[in-house]
Amino acid sequence: MKLDILVFGAHADDAEIGMAGTIAKHTAAGLKVGLCDLTAAEMSSNGTVERRKQEAQEAADVLGAALRTNLGLPDRGIRLEEAQLAAVTAEIRRFAPDIVFAPYWEDRHPDHIACSKLVEEAVFSSKLRKYLPELPAVKAPLLYFYFINDIGRIDLMVDVTAEYARKERALSCYRSQFEKAPGEDVVSTPLNEGYIERVRSRDMLTGQRKLIPYAEGFASKIPHTVELFKGSRA
Ligand SMILES: [Zn+2]
Repeated sequence: MKLDILVFGAHADDAEIGMAGTIAKHTAAGLKVGLCDLTAAEMSSNGTVERRKQEAQEAADVLGAALRTNLGLPDRGIRLEEAQLAAVTAEIRRFAPDIVFAPYWEDRHPDHIACSKLVEEAVFSSKLRKYLPELPAVKAPLLYFYFINDIGRIDLMVDVTAEYARKERALSCYRSQFEKAPGEDVVSTPLNEGYIERVRSRDMLTGQRKLIPYAEGFASKIPHTVELFKGSRA
């Protein structure tokens, strides 16, 4: 299946935190968006791998994603090494997306940084026909970075006001991460201490710069090109 957009995350829920509204907006416009989680998040303090898988699929369905895959790389063990690079490159070639999204390159979680680097390298390798010659090379997709915990300089943003309820519905699928049910053996983490509220506040603050109620920001390492400068003011 050819995808328009492929979003990579280290763990299921990364993509939703950063860009669920943007995903929902694109699927509603008829574009095919796929999600790929590099790990099964087996090192997470709360929830089991099986439960997280179910939650991830539920969230993908809420967002109208065409598919969600999991590469089964080791949680806390994402490295820029040959086997992992080959796995991510193969995923890009398999779906030939026009655009790839990866976590921003600075974040307090080292797996997000490692995922960012690995996906960036794989995007480059995906076009090299002598690399993994058994899988046909593709034209390198455009690469944009979304924010999970840290925020850097925002180069582009998407108005996700109309999609915000859907973003919150997708985030709330991850009950094992965000909820702290009384009596359950749940460890306090930043995720279950008002995390959805923090994501909402961040998205409000991002929109503030253009007086948009809710926006998701993105970074790019290469300049964004325009055909002609035109459009509305402010
Ligand atoms: Zn994560």
